[in-house]
Amino acid sequence: MSHREIRVELGARSYPIWIGPGLLTQSALWRSSIGGRHVLIVSNSTVAPLYLQTVIAGLQTLSWDSLILPDGETHKTLDNAGLVLAKLAGIKASRDATVIALGGGVIGDLAGFAASCYMRGIAFVQMPTTLLAQVDSSVGGKTGVNLPAGKNLVGAFHQPRAVVIDTDTLATLPEREYRAGLAEVVKYGALGDADFFAWLEQNADALIARDAAAMTHAIATSCAHKAAIVARDEHELGERALLNLGHTFGHALETATGYATLLHGEAVAIGMLLAAQLSTQLGRAPAADAKRLAVLLQRLGLPINIPPGIAAETLFAHMQLDKKNISGRLRLILWRGIGHAEIVADVTSTEVMQTLNNATE
Ligand code: NAD
Ligand code: MG
Repeated sequence: MSHREIRVELGARSYPIWIGPGLLTQSALWRSSIGGRHVLIVSNSTVAPLYLQTVIAGLQTLSWDSLILPDGETHKTLDNAGLVLAKLAGIKASRDATVIALGGGVIGDLAGFAASCYMRGIAFVQMPTTLLAQVDSSVGGKTGVNLPAGKNLVGAFHQPRAVVIDTDTLATLPEREYRAGLAEVVKYGALGDADFFAWLEQNADALIARDAAAMTHAIATSCAHKAAIVARDEHELGERALLNLGHTFGHALETATGYATLLHGEAVAIGMLLAAQLSTQLGRAPAADAKRLAVLLQRLGLPINIPPGIAAETLFAHMQLDKKNISGRLRLILWRGIGHAEIVADVTSTEVMQTLNNATE
């Protein structure tokens, strides 16, 4: 199977996303995205043993070094971004150096952020190895790290030079991580592509079986949607906010469960359904579409119910702290139904609490 190419059109900062099996070994394709001589590969202790040698082999005559960080969200810190910067300085990397981010969203966000800072910005290439990173975090140029006070509080917009998606890397991804990534895939259908949503319904079993052709189509379609939205609204002044469908509810669930029970994608699955239920309750969308969403998410092995023991009031309190709110009014991404998300600026507390109360009973 040959690979697919999708372009993110951003003028002089446009870049390709390549998707297909075995792409890490096909360095003739991606080596041209590396300008200078110095390359620093940033990865983690889980991914490096699996894929680092393949990437190194592809670099051929380029001079490379690597930095392997410990695995996990708790390591997405300023200190570790500082380690990347120190390593770049240590290898005397010049302005034309390239950082390669080999791993999931944690590594992509952190390595991309370091690349955005070193000498005020050097090139970086994303080599995402989780489904979530392949369909979401590696595309669009949002980079950053966490602070003790909160997630992603420090960051920069810094677009990669290329995104290399080797679908073979998904073979080693744990089942739960894979399914969590599927939630973000469903999101693209739910927010803007009813045909893709129907395709997902028809191909749910093939996706669960990690069928190569089905995965490639799902990833390519997701990337095409993200690329188009980012090209129209790079800095999230408008339409890009639609990508947060399910995320205000989802973040509240992640916070309420202390980031310990639910993976991000799992929280987004429940969150999307809550957004759909609120839309139905407000008379903006058909109940049948919320039902279809619930059925699809469940078939993909994703949770659709708020975990027991979480109070509606707790979730609501977390939602009020969401970055999207403006002057105390809840600003939510709701939908008209499958394939049509919209930003709604004036949802009342009573309306949100009604949905949450129904869902936590
Ligand atoms: P992650 O990077 O922690 O990866 C999940 C787990 O899978 C980790 O244990 C990792 O080591 C392991 N792993 C990665 N690839 C593997 C492979 N091929 N085989 C086996 N194991 C593998 O988590 P994630 O879900 O990829 O990313 C989450 C991060 O992405 C969060 O920090 C989030 O804030 C960020 N994010 C950023 C954006 C953005 O636009 N920049 C968008 C969404 C999420
Ligand atoms: Mg997300």
